[in-house]
Amino acid sequence: MMREIASDRIVIKVGTSTLIKPTGEVNIKRIEQLTTTIATLKAQHKQVILVSSGAIGVGTNALKLEKRPTLIPDKQAVAAVGQSLLMGVYDKYFGMHQLAVGQMLITKDCIEHTRRYGNAINTLNALLNLDIIPIINENDTVAIDEIILGDNDTLSAYVATMINANLLIILSDIEGLYDKNPTEPEAKLITEVKCITEQIKAYAGGAGSIHGTGGMKTKVEAAMIAAKNGTKTIIMNGKTPEKLENVLKGEVIGTYFDLTTG
Ligand code: ADP
Repeated sequence: MMREIASDRIVIKVGTSTLIKPTGEVNIKRIEQLTTTIATLKAQHKQVILVSSGAIGVGTNALKLEKRPTLIPDKQAVAAVGQSLLMGVYDKYFGMHQLAVGQMLITKDCIEHTRRYGNAINTLNALLNLDIIPIINENDTVAIDEIILGDNDTLSAYVATMINANLLIILSDIEGLYDKNPTEPEAKLITEVKCITEQIKAYAGGAGSIHGTGGMKTKVEAAMIAAKNGTKTIIMNGKTPEKLENVLKGEVIGTYFDLTTG
């Protein structure tokens, strides 16, 4: 069985749990695999946008803090350190493929405010037209409760909407959405979701991993936001980013949200 997937414009969201090892170190090998895969997609003339988490994780590691900070100003300070280091890593590894990167830090008001929204769309399109990889994160250093999206799953769905992406790929630390707590041995991967039923919402209700933020709940919600504009979503394991190429060829990997209505 194969899927038929349009993928000229792809938003790839990579979660903290994919980028940061359980020890707190940055998973450089993973970043290398991810950037190599994206370079392959670029060579196939696909437009790719990366939404990357990980700023606080990278900052925590760089500053040799024992654990992630909990107070908001501390988190924001650590994100300020981590974000630029993370961009440096992406710049280095995309650079090996002669690809340039451009950072865009977005807040919720960019999405809600018509003029800012329009400007952000123009910038994104300009970067894509210049063959630059836009790398997007929420602007953690200024985001406060009222203007926060809070997780990059939601942000990635809005970005997919902004650029009329065909496809949103959410790379997580697990194969996709399971029909029960994935730690239970009889839990089964759901390969396709056509409609967000109460049952699907219940499956996605559990908490996420220690490093991640949204768990499956925000990922399913992201699929719903993206679907309103016709974007399909796939949740798949970020441990094997090279499988993205197989996914785009239609191989059944991860959970595919082919929602008929938003
Ligand atoms: P990321 O950093 O990739 O966004 P999260 O930790 O936020 O990752 O979300 C992924 C985690 O969600 C999984 O590792 C798993 O522990 C948890 N989870 C809860 N319920 C489910 C489910 N039904 N199917 C898959 N994962 C689930």
